Amino acid sequence: AIKKVAVIGAGIAGLSCARELQSFGMLVDVFEKSRGPSGRMSTRRMQDWSADHGAQYFTARDPRFIKEVQRWRQAGIADIWTPKLKVYESNVWCDSSSQETRYVGTPNMNSPGKYLTEDLSVKYERTITGLESRDGQWAIHCSESGAVATLYDCVVFAIPAPQASALLKNLDARASSISNSAQMKACWTMMAHLPHQLATDFDAAFINQEIINWICQNGSKPMRQGTMWTINGSPAWSQENVELSKDDAQDQMMECLTRLGFNCQDAEISMHRWRYASGSLENSIDFLSLPDIRLGLCGDWLNGGRVEGAWLSGLGLAVDIHQSTKQYL
Ligand code: FAD
Repeated sequence: AIKKVAVIGAGIAGLSCARELQSFGMLVDVFEKSRGPSGRMSTRRMQDWSADHGAQYFTARDPRFIKEVQRWRQAGIADIWTPKLKVYESNVWCDSSSQETRYVGTPNMNSPGKYLTEDLSVKYERTITGLESRDGQWAIHCSESGAVATLYDCVVFAIPAPQASALLKNLDARASSISNSAQMKACWTMMAHLPHQLATDFDAAFINQEIINWICQNGSKPMRQGTMWTINGSPAWSQENVELSKDDAQDQMMECLTRLGFNCQDAEISMHRWRYASGSLENSIDFLSLPDIRLGLCGDWLNGGRVEGAWLSGLGLAVDIHQSTKQYL
């Protein structure tokens, strides 16, 4: 049977997969290139402010994820967010008619990710750069410490499509072709303190037909304080301008914000560029399991491109690996 599994990526998909595999009695090591868990469910924390700069909220529709979010709420690491929402289009601000139930991590967007790492072996600052088949097992290499001593029976890729594609190029044609076909788009994110902006009559707004497509007051979310705004560039504009300098991207977004009626005088800004923020396969396949070579792929891009899809993708792959253990042998 499969005993040892390496999961590459400690985003919500990798963590959900790792936990489920561990619950089946497998020995799991998670490798994460950054210093903490959660990937794109993230919060930037500075000395005197913090702001969610990745996922802004998440929804729960599948009964399995609804149950998980319930567990998170009981643990105090997620809660419902009921923003006063507006929609901006053609110079007009309207109330949003959306009835969606929205959740956020509490006190930060990365709180559910941190919670999921409890009892898991997660190795941070480990960027996986290659895999090599050795006597029916996988040897993995990372840029920080070279070859990892342990050999694994199975490897799970829980990273964005373009990053998976780079690692899979010479490993497997099927996995490589699927990861190549997912178009992921960038997102320029601006976190702004606007000292001269008066209180608005909304907490967040969807902006249509502008280079900005979302603006949100972080302090309106449960267990947050402060007056930081998170402002996202639209996928189309962000992708087209992905190579701009931070200063140039900031200038264009500030100009748009001013046109929308915000007072940007003396603004204090922090910019973040997400190279692979959003996007997914045109037809979702939930996850990709390749028992013959003992590899699996999970992540938002295989299952609709959002937090819920990512979590379900990881879970689905783990169950599949468990069920097909004989094939994986
Ligand atoms: P990720 O979170 O990207 O996790 C992948 C992890 O793998 C990362 O931690 C990365 O550091 C690591 N990694 C990558 N390469 C390697 C390597 N070679 N070796 C080791 N580790 C590696 N979703 C919603 O549902 N609602 C929203 O409102 C929403 N808004 C968003 C706004 C923005 C600006 C962004 C960027 C995303 C938003 N999303 C939203 C999408 C949501 O964040 C993602 O769908 C979800 O978090 C993806 O999880 P994941 O585990 O698939 O991938």
